[in-house]
Amino acid sequence: MAMQGKVTTHKDYPIPETMKAWVLGDPGELTLADKPVPSPGKAEVLVRIDAVAICATDLEIIHHGPPAQIHGGDPFNKNFTPGHEYMGTVVALGPGVDEYAIGERVTVEIHAGCGQCKRCREGMYTSCHNYGKNYGDVDKGHRANGFTTDGGFAEYAINSVNTLVHVDDSMSDEEATLVVTAGTAMYGLTELGGLVAGESVVVTGPGPIGLLGAAVAKALGAQPVILTGTRDNRLEIGKQLGADHVVNVRKEENVVEKIRELNGGKGVDYVVECSGAPQALNEAAQMVNRGGRICLAAFPGSSPEVDIAYLVRNNIYLYGIRGEGKTATHRAEAFMRQKRFDATLIHTHTFQMEDLPEALRYAKDRVEDAIKVVVKNKHAEAQRVAAE
Ligand SMILES: [Zn+2]
Ligand SMILES: [Zn+2]
Repeated sequence: MAMQGKVTTHKDYPIPETMKAWVLGDPGELTLADKPVPSPGKAEVLVRIDAVAICATDLEIIHHGPPAQIHGGDPFNKNFTPGHEYMGTVVALGPGVDEYAIGERVTVEIHAGCGQCKRCREGMYTSCHNYGKNYGDVDKGHRANGFTTDGGFAEYAINSVNTLVHVDDSMSDEEATLVVTAGTAMYGLTELGGLVAGESVVVTGPGPIGLLGAAVAKALGAQPVILTGTRDNRLEIGKQLGADHVVNVRKEENVVEKIRELNGGKGVDYVVECSGAPQALNEAAQMVNRGGRICLAAFPGSSPEVDIAYLVRNNIYLYGIRGEGKTATHRAEAFMRQKRFDATLIHTHTFQMEDLPEALRYAKDRVEDAIKVVVKNKHAEAQRVAAE
């Protein structure tokens, strides 16, 4: 062990002075640049990034800006590195860190929050009141990788110890990048009540969060779990992940009737809305029974009209969730470690980090039915080879 100031490093994990990192210029413009490798502060570690999954939100940030917020505004031309669904190896410890060891494989949550606002104190760090206030004279210490601080399309990144999740040796790097997606689904079900065993759940929209939402609901003991969507190939993956029934909404004349039929003639207890379709909320309201609960986990592109009177008359509860709150990621990792579902079913493509633009194209245009596209750095592999 060598001590560099108060930062602890190890000779087996030499840290270069500079690294390759993708930097966002104008909207849609990424260039591979040299950046200094950052140094971890108190309660932080330096993570060597081994793999990172591409998320629809990355595409949103790269092309439009929000919800990323850098120096109080849009993230363009600020030397900002996006990417948030990454995993890697701890290679340096900031002062006072003994929760993790150098060489340990970890996957990361996105939001560290500021740790000092009301919501952070309540454990709702993904709803931090000081979001994006981490610069200049308004520095509240807020961190959200790839949103308000530098993210994972690089070789190294700083993480608060609170965002780290240990990765079991039985899990591949690719699978570990999916833990935070399963964690987001777990957070949705946590907010809906958490005691999901025996409850009926509909998940609408078989994107990555929806597919893993069906998997997590089943692992939590929900019955039945019904997944709806428009593409049969994705619905088929949903079945393999644990959905008891799938409904192709393009082939059903009355989707609400079909849901009721599949649930013994009654409305369901919970809907997890992952489609972002304009009419999704009104349909979800029709799918739940009176007193049912709806979790909104997708962003519709427009502001659809909502039948509020129906929600009131039927005592329907609405929840909006942001990210992977309430330490849900740790619970999701436990399910994945126990092989309660196979998240790798949604991983479809792998690229090298230098080919990020091509990987983003695959994710954006769903080339070859891409679902989760993972980008890898070569150093993890290089170290394995060197050790043999
Ligand atoms: Zn994401
Ligand atoms: Zn906060």
